[in-house]
Amino acid sequence: MVFLLNAKPVQKPDPKIDVIHYEFNININDSSNIIYCTTITDIAIKVAVNSVSFSLGNKGPDGKGMTISAVLFNGKEIRWTHTGNILTLTDANTAEPAQARITIRYSGIPADGLIISKNKFGNRTFFADHWPDRASAYLPVVDHPSDKATVDFIITAPSHYEVVASGYLVEESDIPGGLKLTHWKEDVPLPVKVMTFAAADFATKLAGTVNGIPVWTWVYPENREEGFYDYSVAVKPLEFYSSLIGPYSYEKLANVQSKTIFGGLENAGCIFYSENSVTGQGKAENLIAHEVAHQWFGNSVTERDWPHIWLSEGFATYLTSVYNEKLHGSETLAESMKSARTRVLRASERSPRPVIDTAFTSLMALLNVNSYQKGAWVLHMLRYEIGDELFWKGMRNFYERFRNGNAVTDDFRKTMEEVSGRDLKGFFNQWLWVAGEPDLKINLVPGKKKGTSDILVEQVQGELFTFNIEILIKDQGAEKIVTVPVKDRITSFNVKASPGSEIIPDPHTKLLFRRVEK
Ligand SMILES: [Zn+2]
Repeated sequence: MVFLLNAKPVQKPDPKIDVIHYEFNININDSSNIIYCTTITDIAIKVAVNSVSFSLGNKGPDGKGMTISAVLFNGKEIRWTHTGNILTLTDANTAEPAQARITIRYSGIPADGLIISKNKFGNRTFFADHWPDRASAYLPVVDHPSDKATVDFIITAPSHYEVVASGYLVEESDIPGGLKLTHWKEDVPLPVKVMTFAAADFATKLAGTVNGIPVWTWVYPENREEGFYDYSVAVKPLEFYSSLIGPYSYEKLANVQSKTIFGGLENAGCIFYSENSVTGQGKAENLIAHEVAHQWFGNSVTERDWPHIWLSEGFATYLTSVYNEKLHGSETLAESMKSARTRVLRASERSPRPVIDTAFTSLMALLNVNSYQKGAWVLHMLRYEIGDELFWKGMRNFYERFRNGNAVTDDFRKTMEEVSGRDLKGFFNQWLWVAGEPDLKINLVPGKKKGTSDILVEQVQGELFTFNIEILIKDQGAEKIVTVPVKDRITSFNVKASPGSEIIPDPHTKLLFRRVEK
């Protein structure tokens, strides 16, 4: 189902305009799924334009979609068209760099992006679930991660709803008609994919405070006890990543039980978890650690374009493993990298594609083993390549430099090159731009000199890789590890060991490779 919805073309931002701020005024009710909206959008016009466009779902044959009643450009009615899910202001003639304010009034039943349904307890709920470009089904936006903007959510709802959103709470007022107005404001620019709000019956509790950042739990009242217990663990990864990477970028962190279509969705400062994540048995810690990591990578430092999504998912995956390494020791990290490696090798056998995949067919298809597990492996190998200290220094620098902005893989590479004083073009190229990984034949044969052996490493895959591989040698009860530098088709490495020794390649799980038959 999801894939059908996303079979639409991916929006490219218009380089002539930059959205600065969205104000979403959204009225929801209990008698129908029609929402009534006014959005006020501030844009910077960088180059003279004749027209300005936003994505917004049209009303379709199923009655779902949005119908526009008015569009104002700097306070004046303007001509517009709305077809093919694109709203175009046709007379937005602006001759020079300028700012403009665009007001759009519309209503309709969201076909996607805002999930209006009943939760597992039969209560009516609203969850804005935007990732990757589903917001534009009901909000007029530039639905691309490169165009980040600040945002206000001003939600008018029947007064029994509790409303939470990205940002900090500005107002919560009862208003005539049995309604409540709730206003959340985010002063930090966000990509549309992780802007969010939710309206439901919620129980809320402060789980803790980290460096002055309140961490709140929002769960269904029926799950109050279990949810407060399960989600309170979010304090730990927030603390850990803050000290490891740098300051958290948002005003609060809310962890919300939700109807997201994903297991978890990293919405900025307002993370959604699937409703069944609440068990009362503390089983959501890894999921929470992953989504919290996204607050740094994905939300604050955002990939400038979709093929660089590993900067979000690979980073969150690796940081979750590092969080577990911190809690449970290095053996835990090795175990998680081992199982990630198994998944990467299996996936690349099925369909070998590079991590940075410019030929992706749908945005949902980018949620794959390459973006997550292989992305994590790239960071893991880079950590050994340049050493722990420089690696974490580089991660901190990368965050600091691109915080609340956008980056591509080359930005990360250059940051790591500066920190390490190394040319890392080859490393980044072979692991991210080339499909597959080294397929290695590794054997021990008698050396020319008595009492020695040669470790033979043959790369049998197409394109040659350059890397170091550790080999553990077990020679008559004695053990040692040697590091073999590999760059050619066949590498021969002489060691003091009897030819009958046992060899175990990569004993500490530092290399992404496949061992092929002897
Ligand atoms: Zn993720």
